[in-house]
Amino acid sequence: MSAAACLSDIFTCARCGYCCQGETTVSLDQDDQARMQAKLGLSREEMEAKYWRVTKGVVQMRIVDHHCIFYSPEQGCAVHEGRPWRCGQWPLHPSILTNENNFRTIRESCPGMNQHLSWEEFCAVFRQLLEQDRRLLC
Ligand code: SF4
Ligand code: SF4
Repeated sequence: MSAAACLSDIFTCARCGYCCQGETTVSLDQDDQARMQAKLGLSREEMEAKYWRVTKGVVQMRIVDHHCIFYSPEQGCAVHEGRPWRCGQWPLHPSILTNENNFRTIRESCPGMNQHLSWEEFCAVFRQLLEQDRRLLC
């Protein structure tokens, strides 16, 4: 029997903050909204007043100084346990498994991804991790 795969075989976050930069963020589904509210102990109205941008029913985090409102270089993500699932999934997006170009593009933007493995080697570990836990969080 082969040894269980380890997340650190393919990814160890370098805490560079690159994925929290930009002029938009991921959108938050209902579970994300509830988790973030629970983490911060705030009502929906308070979240919308302080942290969320709601556009045609789509909830995203506000942007401050070109990054997510929860990011700071000193602290990283201030809402880590309450972060949206797409933030937790990053950079191990399933499209990596089907498209080598996506793999290369994502790896270029994320220094935490193992930079030495081939696409095939990376995917073999990634698939094994998903078999162990379908809701793999980084
Ligand atoms: S919620 Fe946290 S992990 Fe997600 S973009 Fe904002 S700072 Fe980054
Ligand atoms: S997931 Fe990647 S891009 Fe984001 S902080 Fe970690 S190393 Fe940097």
